[in-house]
Amino acid sequence: MKDTFTHKGMRKKLVETLITKGIENPKVLEAINKIPRHLFMDSGFIDHAYIDKAFPIGADQTISQPYTVARQTELLDVNPNDKILEIGTGSGYQTAVLIEMKALVYSIERQSELFKKAKLFLPKLGYRPKKLIFGDGYIGLASEAPFDGIIVTAGAPFVPKPLMAQLKVGGKLVIPVGEKIQVMTVFTRTSETEFEKEEFGEFRFVPLLEDKN
Ligand code: SAH
Repeated sequence: MKDTFTHKGMRKKLVETLITKGIENPKVLEAINKIPRHLFMDSGFIDHAYIDKAFPIGADQTISQPYTVARQTELLDVNPNDKILEIGTGSGYQTAVLIEMKALVYSIERQSELFKKAKLFLPKLGYRPKKLIFGDGYIGLASEAPFDGIIVTAGAPFVPKPLMAQLKVGGKLVIPVGEKIQVMTVFTRTSETEFEKEEFGEFRFVPLLEDKN
């Protein structure tokens, strides 16, 4: 559990890469500069932690590419004390980014192995989500709704209705939609009954799966 000067230096370079790729929000860049991503990775991949790529984290899942994490966080438009729901805790890295941005984070993971690992690991680094839930992200988290923002970190074949319903008016749902390739889509709730839809290019995610194992 070490974070060395070498790691810090590599992180700074990663941040520079993200800037050249178009990430602008200083708070997002600051969070990425601060979080020891290598500690979220399996030992075999630690050396690659600060390359802008996705890597395996076990249970057939991946830690999202830093650019993707940065872009989704930027699109979510997080403000301090915002109540944010994340679907797909995975390694917990995106969760940590949201907590660095001072959000109150609720995160759902459907793989028990990853859920248990993140639950133990995040507090060790000082990251305390409001709640980590072992369950199905397709149904969201009605008991804690409405949310200022909802971020889906797996590829959704369609937009789950409960997630739309659990947004505050003014809130945003950031969701990659599609089967093999996903289009990063942002829905902003403009009234009780209306949503504005915007699209932000193609990405590749592991799939958002419906049933638990
Ligand atoms: N945010 C994660 C990304 C992990 S990849 C990170 O930063 O590491 C996507 C995650 O979504 C995987 O862990 C996968 O198990 C999870 N997932 C897939 N379908 C899900 C569902 N229906 N509900 C909750 N989590 C789901």
